[in-house]
Amino acid sequence: MFESLSDRLSGVFDKLKKRGALSEADISAAMREVRVALLEADVALPVVKDFIAKVSEKSIGHAILKSVTPGQQVIKIVHDELIAMLGSGEDEADSPGGFGGQTLPLLGVPPVPVLMVGLQGSGKTTSTAKIAKRLSEKDHKRVLMASLDTRRPAAQEQLRVLGEQIGIKTLPVIEGQMAVDIARRAMEAARLQGFDVVMLDTAGRMHVDDDLMREVIAVRDQVKPVETLLVADALTGQDAVSVARSFDERLGITGVVLSRMDGDGRGGAALSMRAITGKPIRLIGTGEKPDALEAFHPSRIAGRILG
Ligand code: GDP
Repeated sequence: MFESLSDRLSGVFDKLKKRGALSEADISAAMREVRVALLEADVALPVVKDFIAKVSEKSIGHAILKSVTPGQQVIKIVHDELIAMLGSGEDEADSPGGFGGQTLPLLGVPPVPVLMVGLQGSGKTTSTAKIAKRLSEKDHKRVLMASLDTRRPAAQEQLRVLGEQIGIKTLPVIEGQMAVDIARRAMEAARLQGFDVVMLDTAGRMHVDDDLMREVIAVRDQVKPVETLLVADALTGQDAVSVARSFDERLGITGVVLSRMDGDGRGGAALSMRAITGKPIRLIGTGEKPDALEAFHPSRIAGRILG
């Protein structure tokens, strides 16, 4: 991911670095190229416009243009603005005021519920298992998983099998039980058995559909999750961002898990998600294996893009 964006930007910046002095016109020309590169990487237009405006404003200042290394300074400004665009607020894992290197900010009296939502095929069930494994191994939490997907017959079985593979308990299935009732039962079981976290994997949907949304809202109202994570496929670019926005408008999400960041997508979803939804990318999926999950670090991604 990000390869072609990274190549394009390094082309622009190599030219800037070679020049000793920079005029306003040089900066404007470079910004036009950066704009095209971002749009081609499938970054949302309002995000691109805002980014270019901020970088231009900071670059065209007297001190930058008159400095000994104006090209380097502009690159530093782009770097910092990229981090801001990816999210460098207090709620990210790697910020000083963040949640201390934990996988998720799971505040509250245990067992705390985490609701996983998303479109079918986005990687929701896989991500549920990956997060459960990481919470268990890295954060030493006792985790219970439950599948609330009563629509797809194999879904509950899929989570159980994954649970067995990674050594995480799943709630035993009772045939015919509704999603809200499974969620209630999961919370009761977790309370009785001393679990810290309950991961609730909701039914996927082909698109944002009213029936399923009502079901998830009923579950949310029942368990009051501390985190509601939307799993979105990074390879679907700006579609992933619009899915996140509509889930947020209807349900309220606390963060995003971007799956398939190992694919060779253009990176637009990762780059626009925070700015468009206002919600942090909490974690990224980097493969099919249960360990292929990483914290999202804006500074690392910016470093990868700028080489
Ligand atoms: P769900 O319908 O949203 O629950 O989707 P699944 O969790 O069943 O995932 C659908 C497919 O995507 C499976 O084959 C997963 O192995 C695969 N998958 C999920 N996350 C990732 C990821 O981060 N990288 C890659 N390469 N594949 C993934």
